[in-house]
Amino acid sequence: MDFITKKIWRVYLGCALVLMSINGFANTLDILESAVLAVNPQEGVVLLNQFDIANSELTPQQQAKVFFLYGQVYEKNRELNKSITSYDKGIALVKYLPISDILIDSHLERSFALYLKTNDPAVYCEDRKQALIYARQHNNSELLAKTLTQNAFCYNQPDNVYQGISLLDEAMLIINKSDNINTHRKAMIYNATGSLYRSVGLHQQGYVNFEKAYQTWQSVNDVEDMFNMQHNMLSEAIKLSDWDKADKSIEAQFALAAMVDETKDLLFFSHLNAGRISLFTHDYNQAIVHLESAVSLNSTTKEQYFISSNYLYLSLAYFKNGKLEQAANAARIFRLDNHFPANQKTMLLKADAIIALDDNKPTLAANLLFQVIDIERKNSQDIVENQVVSRSLDHNFKVAEFENELLANKLAINELNWSSIADKQRINELRMSLFFVTLIVLVCIVLFLFFSRKTLKRRAQTDYLTGLSNRGHTFQKGQKIIERCWKKQKPAAVIIFDIDNFKAINDRYGHHIGDLAIKAAAMRTKSWLKKHDLVGRIGGEEFLIILEDTTQEEGFSISDRLRNGIASQSFQFEDQSVDFTISLGVAVLKDDVTSLTTLVKQADDALYQAKFSGKNKVYLSAQCA
Ligand code: GH3
Ligand code: MG
Ligand code: MG
Repeated sequence: MDFITKKIWRVYLGCALVLMSINGFANTLDILESAVLAVNPQEGVVLLNQFDIANSELTPQQQAKVFFLYGQVYEKNRELNKSITSYDKGIALVKYLPISDILIDSHLERSFALYLKTNDPAVYCEDRKQALIYARQHNNSELLAKTLTQNAFCYNQPDNVYQGISLLDEAMLIINKSDNINTHRKAMIYNATGSLYRSVGLHQQGYVNFEKAYQTWQSVNDVEDMFNMQHNMLSEAIKLSDWDKADKSIEAQFALAAMVDETKDLLFFSHLNAGRISLFTHDYNQAIVHLESAVSLNSTTKEQYFISSNYLYLSLAYFKNGKLEQAANAARIFRLDNHFPANQKTMLLKADAIIALDDNKPTLAANLLFQVIDIERKNSQDIVENQVVSRSLDHNFKVAEFENELLANKLAINELNWSSIADKQRINELRMSLFFVTLIVLVCIVLFLFFSRKTLKRRAQTDYLTGLSNRGHTFQKGQKIIERCWKKQKPAAVIIFDIDNFKAINDRYGHHIGDLAIKAAAMRTKSWLKKHDLVGRIGGEEFLIILEDTTQEEGFSISDRLRNGIASQSFQFEDQSVDFTISLGVAVLKDDVTSLTTLVKQADDALYQAKFSGKNKVYLSAQCA
């Protein structure tokens, strides 16, 4: 930032501080933040010191925001203790108040400062965990996604990496559900997922997630971040020894570098990476060309680690190309970097070996290279193991997926089976009920027909007034009795009787009483006879009796008892006492006479005689003699 810009910011801030009392503090804080972030850290501190933080008009959250800005500028200036103390002050101001964005952000940023200071997850993860507790209770989904993403980095060991991955999955879910499409956050989550996988050596998954991050940034045409992701993809491709992927990435990197300002370091990195690939694929001349190109672009980047690394790669390329002197020169430049991370041990050893060789110390050089071999062997072993883990994870995942599908299919089939069984049962039940309904209907019809036929038949055979057999039925049934007796050589008697002077009863008591008299004569006759003896009404007040297995004497005596039974006892009809008598004629089965009509005629003749001789009499047919 040049002098004029700084001056402008100072003036602007001065005005802002004056305006503060007019416009309120929220606006002023935004201006202060912009100003602080625009200048260098020392200038930022100066700007902040001009701000009256103890101003009573400021809310605790606003005061915490100022401390937060202090934390940021000190952090940038690598004054980490001061930075941490600033965040402490901000947190202390708001931690007992309702959860606020600034409380969560202060914890996250203090965590970052602690990370820079200690690089110890046990120290810096405390703040992230606390921030997550707050963020889960706070209504800011964007901040929750950010907090989840930062917490994920606390789980980068093989035994807990999946906890980290699940936090990132949750963050992705929140972002996807959110109304405002936050591509930047989404890409950051993919990037974080890739980094976690990479940290435990699962490079395949690492590559996939960096690629997703790349595609996400591609959707908003963020060239620099696309380039960063290509850089990550390339390192994963190298770990996987996938040179096709590596070549494609190099191509993409050069294309992206061509899209930005030349002052940016994208071209430096493109050459550095291309050089590395050439080195790995044993094209040393090409490697030297690229790595030298990168050296020529050193001024475009601030990334000292990569500037130094580039010298080591160049050294190796020269060395493998048989140019020991140039190799040793590059190695010496590499070793000038005192801050190069000690955990990149093999790189340091390789440089030292080349230098030793150039210094004519072959034994030392060989020993250093043996150390490299040991470390590399250990690394390869880890990679192989991780690949096995990775494959088995993939495999397990696929098996689980397959098993889930299988289970779903089985469930679907079971459901179908159940429903088909249920359908069958229903059909059977329907069939059964249909069968029973049909059966019942049929039985009803049969019974109805049977009873109606029987009723009709009985009606056709019954005399309506007395309930006895009517004339037709009496003759029909009587004929059968006579024939049976004749066949069995058994006696049979035919009795015919007629109420005496019935006309007079009708005349005297009325037709109704006449009816009752006919009915009563029938009942009394029935009661005098056995159950199976046949009695029928064959005319107005005329009755016919056919007695099976009955001799002439028995027939006569039964007739006489009947006569006496009617004559000896008055009848009581509706307070009317009525007396009447009957006359009877008797015939019996004899010789070849098997016709009932003939026997009735004989009995009728005898009846006529009974009437003629004074009524209330029994006469035997002349044929009986
Ligand atoms: P007899 O002693 O000679 O038989 O004299 P009777 O009066 O009984 O003579 P007859 O047989 O000529 O008369 C029968 C009368 O019975 C004629 C008819 O009006 C009457 N009668 C026939 N059927 C019925 C009936 O169902 N109900 C009534 N109340 N009267 C009937
Ligand atoms: Mg008569
Ligand atoms: Mg009569």
